[in-house]
Amino acid sequence: MVGALAVVSAQNGQRQVSLVVTGGTVVTVDAANRVLPVGAVAVDGTDIVAVDTAENIARQFRGRDTIDATGQIILPGLINTHTHAAMALFRGLADDLALMEWLNRYIFPAEARAVSPEFVRAGTRLAALEMIQSGTTTFADMYYFEEEVANETKAAGLRGVLGQTIIQFPVADAKTPADGLVRADAFIKAFKGDPLITPAVAPHALYTLDGPTLRAARDLSRRHNVPTLIHLAETRDEVQVAQERFKSSPVAYLDSLGFLGPGVLAAHGIWVSDADIAVLKARGVGVSHNPESNMKLASGAAPVPAYIRADVNVGLGTDGAASNNDLDMFEAMRVASLLHKHVTVDPRALGAHTALEMATIRGARALGMDRLIGSLEARKHADLITISMRGARQTPMYDPVSHLVYVVRGDDVQNTIVNGKVLMRNRKMLTLDEAAILAEAREWAAKVRAAVK
Ligand SMILES: [Zn+2]
Repeated sequence: MVGALAVVSAQNGQRQVSLVVTGGTVVTVDAANRVLPVGAVAVDGTDIVAVDTAENIARQFRGRDTIDATGQIILPGLINTHTHAAMALFRGLADDLALMEWLNRYIFPAEARAVSPEFVRAGTRLAALEMIQSGTTTFADMYYFEEEVANETKAAGLRGVLGQTIIQFPVADAKTPADGLVRADAFIKAFKGDPLITPAVAPHALYTLDGPTLRAARDLSRRHNVPTLIHLAETRDEVQVAQERFKSSPVAYLDSLGFLGPGVLAAHGIWVSDADIAVLKARGVGVSHNPESNMKLASGAAPVPAYIRADVNVGLGTDGAASNNDLDMFEAMRVASLLHKHVTVDPRALGAHTALEMATIRGARALGMDRLIGSLEARKHADLITISMRGARQTPMYDPVSHLVYVVRGDDVQNTIVNGKVLMRNRKMLTLDEAAILAEAREWAAKVRAAVK
């Protein structure tokens, strides 16, 4: 892929590449935690070809395009391991409720009346705009009409692990779970092998699905060798359901179905025992930690330090904007770090470096994509962002990783690049029409309000 575009300039021995991002502090999040105070990243086509000092990159490469990142941090794009992009249109619709009441009284009824292919397209565009503006380059999604999510994700230029939802009751895109499975099968066939989209199956949760459907959903993902996304052990109510119906914990129940294995990403994983954690580790399940949604719905605090000690791959997520209420992964890092210090009364429980890894390389591992994304290294996909460090809030800077977790906000992101393509340049959107997306979202809000009256 790289070779086809490589041209060696005769005059000075420099290799011509498509893009050089240079002059910033490069925080690679590679295995050696390399930080280059004045560094650069050379990109050719869809991939990174070199990460080095700005001087060494300038000697070896000439970019057909150059982004000057002086006064900025150059970072791998952030990976949001759990969201429901289209729910951006439900942002702020119902707050200050526990999960089950929030779902049953507001979200499921609103979805029953409002969700359509047009709704999903508009909501995904809004979420994509927010994600690009706040430095997310890959997101894992669970929703309805997932082919619409995929088309909008591709149009925006983002990378997505997109799961077609399977749920027991009738929903907008499927009258029965069997219909949902047929949809998921068609969706996988349509998008498998796409450079930006990894199709997936998303059985909603054990409390909204029966055993045969959970098994069928998992069989489908195994047959196609695609990821399975599920909500797991999110609330004490879910634990109670599992105890009453199956005389077991949520994790043990799914394990008894043969559901757990590599390729499964479990969102939340809050109410788990040490034995459950050992099962998740043994089965190679990834976990998505969503501290803001969990705190807002008062679902509880996932035992993230215990997961990390047990070497379970834990990434970070925002959950949908209806329960967060934004998609800012910098905020998710900060809240994750503060939450675990707070609940353990130990300031070392989740340090800045680990929080940053959860938003990048650990998230990539949880999704099984760490050979492709999650750090700035040659031969990985060119998914990177630059972040201004010039404001009062970021001055002075002793430690870039500290600032990334404890002071940076999504708005500080200046450039967002996915698969070698610049999606936002100096905060100007290049793939999306910002004004049109915002106007459309405001129109949808009127319809949603009418639907939940
Ligand atoms: Zn969720």
